[in-house]
Amino acid sequence: MSGTPGLIARWRDRLPVTARTPLITLGEGNTPLVRVDRVAKAAGLPPGSVFVKVEGANPTGSFKDRGMTLAISKAVESGATGVLCASTGNTSASAAAYAARAGLRCVVFLPAGKVAAGKLSQAVMHGAEIVEVAGNFDEALVMAGEAAKTKGFALVNSSNPFRLQGQKTAAFEIIEQLGRAPDNHFIPVGNAGNITAYWMGYKESGAKPRMFGWQAAGAAPLVSGKAVKNPSTLATAIRIGCPVSWNGAIAARDESGGAIGKVTDAEILAAYRLLSSTEGVFCEPSSAASVAGLLKLGRARKAPAGLTVCVLTGNGLKDPGITARWKPKIRRVKAGGAIKL
Ligand SMILES: *Cc1c(COP(=O)(O)O)cnc(C)c1O
Repeated sequence: MSGTPGLIARWRDRLPVTARTPLITLGEGNTPLVRVDRVAKAAGLPPGSVFVKVEGANPTGSFKDRGMTLAISKAVESGATGVLCASTGNTSASAAAYAARAGLRCVVFLPAGKVAAGKLSQAVMHGAEIVEVAGNFDEALVMAGEAAKTKGFALVNSSNPFRLQGQKTAAFEIIEQLGRAPDNHFIPVGNAGNITAYWMGYKESGAKPRMFGWQAAGAAPLVSGKAVKNPSTLATAIRIGCPVSWNGAIAARDESGGAIGKVTDAEILAAYRLLSSTEGVFCEPSSAASVAGLLKLGRARKAPAGLTVCVLTGNGLKDPGITARWKPKIRRVKAGGAIKL
């Protein structure tokens, strides 16, 4: 017994690994697919037609673990002694955890002041070497790319092809969990690696759901068709002005007959709140962009028919600062007193 098998063991024949590839795993993948009838109703869709893929249930709390198990395993196989990445937070948390497990150095380039508290605490506790960049994610990524020329280091951003290979397994899981492919796939889009990976996974399965990607209104280069210099949104994981996988996202949209749209921060927070308060599913704000997009189409009476899966990319505990916007009603009492409910 070697512990819970991760996604490389599960999908070995569909991944670029050999018997010589060491398996660096934390038991990632196999995340819940949860039926969300309150969301369906809010979008004007029938019960049983909308599901969320809860990627926050991965070991470090985001889908990044799917790509990281493969990227770190391949880095070890190739003899690397360190990895590095630029990150809005979740990539660094995941890279730090898998690198710690593999005994590799891990250097992370983070945009100053724009990384959620939970994510930063993970990088710290897993022993990552942190470089805080006085700039945005796109600028941090250029620096990480330069530093990656250092001998012995591997870059584990989503430009690393093993990342997308690992991430495509989520599409395999969805098809297995539903017993068929969904008709529509909704997903938040930042650097656009994940929408590219899902589309690859669906295509390899002979499936063709319509791919609907959602960007934050203040960081929507794929909607406007041009890079955004100073991206701005409270959804920090998708606060990206020049997506690395730009072409992959456009291909997913066009080949599938889908769309890439944008949602405002207010729409993102409304979806975040609906999920947490009526479905019991706590995701981080960036993740709620997928559901915000479905609700937006619903309001225009344009929610697509058929089975819809919305990806929730990360765990709500990652970003506790956001919840301070909701003032809880708390009754303060002496110990031992009676409470009338
Ligand atoms: C990384 C991330 C995204 C964006 O994924 P891309 O592959 O960059 O498009 C969205 N949500 C969360 C929580 C993330 O960590």
